[in-house]
Amino acid sequence: MIIEPRTRGFICLTAHPTGCEQNVIDQIEYVKSKGAINGAKKVLVIGSSTGFGLASRISSAFGSDAATIGVFFDKPSSPGRTGSAGYYNTAAFEKHAHKAGLYAKSINGDAFSNEIKRKTMDMIKEDLGQVDLVIYSLASPVRTHPETGVRYKSVLKPIGGVFSNKTVDFHTGNVTEISINPAEGDDIPNTVAVMGGEDWKMWIDALKSENLLSEGATTVAYSYIGPKLTEAVYRKGTIGAAKDDLEATAFTISDDLKSIGGKAYVSVNKALVTQASSAIPVIPLYISLLYKIMKAKGIHEGCIEQIQRLYSERLFNGEEMLLDDNGRIRIDDWEMREDVQAEVAKLWENASTENLSEIGDLKGYSDDFFNLFGFKVDGVDYDADVNEMVEIQSEN
Ligand code: NAD
Repeated sequence: MIIEPRTRGFICLTAHPTGCEQNVIDQIEYVKSKGAINGAKKVLVIGSSTGFGLASRISSAFGSDAATIGVFFDKPSSPGRTGSAGYYNTAAFEKHAHKAGLYAKSINGDAFSNEIKRKTMDMIKEDLGQVDLVIYSLASPVRTHPETGVRYKSVLKPIGGVFSNKTVDFHTGNVTEISINPAEGDDIPNTVAVMGGEDWKMWIDALKSENLLSEGATTVAYSYIGPKLTEAVYRKGTIGAAKDDLEATAFTISDDLKSIGGKAYVSVNKALVTQASSAIPVIPLYISLLYKIMKAKGIHEGCIEQIQRLYSERLFNGEEMLLDDNGRIRIDDWEMREDVQAEVAKLWENASTENLSEIGDLKGYSDDFFNLFGFKVDGVDYDADVNEMVEIQSEN
């Protein structure tokens, strides 16, 4: 069939298998072009199908020849209906990993559940024995608690007062003022329950209790800080409360891993267009200005460049880990540079519907958004008939 993008706000209902495969190939080629990384060899990635998790899986496999198990939650294809991008990405990843002689298996299901944790642990036990790196890269709006069955929903709200600022509809380029009401009721604990550290700790506790973590194993979860401009809705908002909790959990997990010489880290990553971030108000406007400045300075990075640098210059560079005052790895260092932030803040003041395509990188944002779903990818013939039915090799 001919597959075209069908967008609804910040989601796209269709995905293109050839475009998704090309994205994966491009990321693989990037990692290979940067040379070998002396990293972990048996890697579990939780949230492995898109964004930073996919980039982590690719960096481990093609940078360090690692065996990888990926856990993700995506829609498979069915006749006449495309799968979700993460499904096609995973199929493409496995295809190319297997072609390169690498072990790669994937589990599609709810990572928050006991059932998927059990399935993953059985796979590790049977195939790998143990893992030496666990990447935790989930981004989800909901979580059903495995012990209580309670279904928590996360919200993106400021805390303590109404937040008003500019935002952009990246499809039309319309810059408008939005006001977001503050969190109320259980909004904060609910968001912490979904995006905080409890599930990360549950994974590590479960893996450790069954001796599935090797001596000196490392686990890394991803966080975000960002600028003053987005602080009220991000870092000091409900999602920020969840990130505070995630970051605090790293210390608890590190204590738990002392007995095996292991360590838990949080890496603070750069703002990027992913399915998760396009849902957050105000962030798309910030990103389109940020992209413009960082591209002009020659320091723009996508997920794969970020994670390749995280691996080669932080996690596996053989030196003592460079951490900030709060014990976090900072791979958002270029985004947070004073000169970058000063220029973004200046552009922000004047940003309007009339000038955004000129002063910001609206096209870059929009292209990246479509790329997430395999559209507008260079080298792909979108007029060609394509088979929407794609299989993930390890699922058969
Ligand atoms: P993403 O939406 O691209 O990826 C999320 C992944 O989680 C996907 O693989 C998805 O299948 C998986 N997933 C979601 N719910 C699941 C479930 N219940 N069970 C199993 N898998 C599930 O998101 P992303 O932007 O790459 O975010 C990953 C992490 O990086 C998040 O913690 C996010 O806060 C953080 N981060 C993102 C940015 C950014 O700008 N995008 C910046 C810094 C940090």
